[in-house]
Amino acid sequence: QAVVHWFKMDLRLHDNRSLWLASQKAQEAGVPLICLYVLSPEDLEAHLRAPIRVDFMLRTLEILKRDLDALEIPLWVETVGKRAEVPSRIKELMKSWGASHLFCAMEYEVDELRREAKLVKRLAEGEEDERMVAQVVHDTCVVMPGALKSGSGGQYAVYSPWYRAWIKHVEENPDCLEMYEKPVANPPGTRDRRQFSHLFDCPIPEAPEGKRLRDDDEKVRFRALWPAGEHEALRRLEKFCDEDIGKYAERRDMPAKQEGTSNLSVHFASGTLSARTAIRAARDRNNTKKLNGGNEGIQRWISEVAWREFYKHVLVGWPYVCMNKPFKPLYSNIEWSYNASHFRAWTQGRTGFPIIDAAMRQVLATGYMHNRLRMVVASFLAKDLLIDWRMGERYFMEHLIDGDFASNNGGWGFAASVGVDPQPYFRVFNPLLQSEKFDPDGEYIRRWVEELRDLDDLSKKEVHDPYGRCGSEEVRKRLEERGYPRQMVEHAGARERALEAYKRGLARD
Ligand code: FAD
Repeated sequence: QAVVHWFKMDLRLHDNRSLWLASQKAQEAGVPLICLYVLSPEDLEAHLRAPIRVDFMLRTLEILKRDLDALEIPLWVETVGKRAEVPSRIKELMKSWGASHLFCAMEYEVDELRREAKLVKRLAEGEEDERMVAQVVHDTCVVMPGALKSGSGGQYAVYSPWYRAWIKHVEENPDCLEMYEKPVANPPGTRDRRQFSHLFDCPIPEAPEGKRLRDDDEKVRFRALWPAGEHEALRRLEKFCDEDIGKYAERRDMPAKQEGTSNLSVHFASGTLSARTAIRAARDRNNTKKLNGGNEGIQRWISEVAWREFYKHVLVGWPYVCMNKPFKPLYSNIEWSYNASHFRAWTQGRTGFPIIDAAMRQVLATGYMHNRLRMVVASFLAKDLLIDWRMGERYFMEHLIDGDFASNNGGWGFAASVGVDPQPYFRVFNPLLQSEKFDPDGEYIRRWVEELRDLDDLSKKEVHDPYGRCGSEEVRKRLEERGYPRQMVEHAGARERALEAYKRGLARD
């Protein structure tokens, strides 16, 4: 007899609703709690999980296992080759453990919802003594998707009114921000019971083929950059809220300032941090003790954490966004370019626009990119190069440590004007103006574009467009010798071409 909690994107003990419910159930029934994680290589492939993200997840499992061990709760990691077999395999495992009840957090992507529906059905099948119960609970969002209705009774498609409704809902329903305790320890001696003892010896597997980091150098670098696990998430959250959140509103758009944003996205995406914990931590530091009003930095940060949640609500409201379709169906007929050499230049940070090259090189070196630059490089790909935004969306998922379907799809849709942006398509970022505004001293550019790093003769103004603006023939020659490319497109012309293509696409509808 046992109760099972299935860990997915909720890799934490602290403030984990499903785990807490499982622990309560085990307590009530007087049976042990067993934790399960299912590693499906096919799933990792289908979701384009970046190797850096898989490495983070496996390191987090090591930490979870250690913490669960201290509570005499085993963590069993099961590798299931075919993802369609996950529900049946879970049932077999539960049977072998004598477990009749499973809890897990709901994931809102279409494939995951289908899998969970299948699991609920599969567990309920069979003779009476073979039947089991799966409880799939809301946990990842502060406000459950579907709970907020617009004036016309549907899901909000625009962020600002959605956010006002979100604040109102949270204030009227304080249990949205309830804190869930860690699970209660299993009865002493659980690890020595014959039927459970082998579960405590389960090793954390290696990353599957195709999802491994390239070499030891990458391992060392990424592990130092991104310490895993919930303790790190809570440490980072506390530090950010103590030292930096107050200045968030002024600094959040300046990529040279690393401490300008929280760098917590990998923790939200992996569930090493609960959105409830994060919002409470920020709110409790506000002198109003509310989500809005008071400190501007705190208000702004809470509203950004809510963007993550908005995109999950959008995903539930318009599930076809999971199927490679734009949120705005009207924009399905744009004739995109599939120019492979242009796409390669963008991925490698060799476009000749230093701000874009710096951002694309940052993602290759660290698995992360600042939000402002995600918007700039996405706009450049979709508008200046007119390349299908879905290629960029895919590339981001394959390289980001915080790759999250809803936020990534939402961000790309927004930047390519095919998503929830209420602005029409003719908003096109000018990469040079963005560069001057958000990296005025060229500090971020010089950090990542080594060809420009030590060219002291380049002024702050010139560094944004070295060939175009630098008057010194000698400096331009040095740049050429170093192989720094010239701008691959001329922005004004590219903008006109994009506007025409969008207009034609809309006319074709
Ligand atoms: P902070 O500024 O400290 O914000 C706190 C948290 O709020 C973030 O960790 C994140 O969870 C959430 N958040 C902030 N801004 C956004 C936003 N615009 N949309 C959704 N959530 C937000 N974020 C991901 O987590 N995964 C992705 O795959 C992803 N892809 C993106 C693709 C594009 C094209 C764009 C424009 C944005 C994307 N974002 C994505 C959103 C955002 O860029 C990152 O969440 C942010 O840069 C993470 O840095 P931070 O943790 O320091 O953020």
